[in-house]
Amino acid sequence: MSLQKPIVAFVLGGPGAGKGTQCEKIVKKFGFVHLSAGELLRNERDSGSKDGNLIQNCIKDGKIVPVEITIALIQKAMEKSSVKKFLVDGFPRNEDNLQGWNNRMTGIVDVKCVLFFDCPEEECIRRIVERGKTSGRSDDNIHSLRKRFNTYKEQTMPIIEHYEKLNLVKRIPATGSPDEVFQDVKEAIDSILN
Ligand code: UDP
Ligand code: MG
Repeated sequence: MSLQKPIVAFVLGGPGAGKGTQCEKIVKKFGFVHLSAGELLRNERDSGSKDGNLIQNCIKDGKIVPVEITIALIQKAMEKSSVKKFLVDGFPRNEDNLQGWNNRMTGIVDVKCVLFFDCPEEECIRRIVERGKTSGRSDDNIHSLRKRFNTYKEQTMPIIEHYEKLNLVKRIPATGSPDEVFQDVKEAIDSILN
């Protein structure tokens, strides 16, 4: 009997680059399961978890939650799912995340690619300020946003560069409309499925 390892595509890019929007489209077209690390953390925070305060403080300040918390949530969600094709959105965001992932997941899952949504900061800011009018997210305001961008540039970009050296990065220009951007996304996903 051949047991295939679960496959994973990481989804990275600045806040507002369109990760969530494109993930929804990938789910519809290709049947992946979307695991947003940010969403898992927000749900954990709202569940009355003992880590709730720590998580909320990180989110508000655009800091990265210690990987032990995030990886446990990701792993639990993966184990619950019968479909074994995952989009892991918004992770790994820093060196701690990367180490934690490698320690826990190496050999267990197959990381096929990193979809990197490349969008200029001004456009990202415009989108998030717009989203902030209705999202109810405590970090969709200009104050948190600046911190999130600093974290992204200082800590997440080096992770993308790490995966670039491993030839796993699919760079997607992300300034167009969702349908325009999805043209490139489709090609990228097709290329990892064959
Ligand atoms: N976050 C984290 N670790 C993760 C993913 C998210 O600590 O692996 C926290 C971090 O504070 C981040 C916030 O959750 O700024 C929101 O993340 P999300 O991915 O939802 O934001 P996006 O980048 O999609 O706008
Ligand atoms: Mg998101």
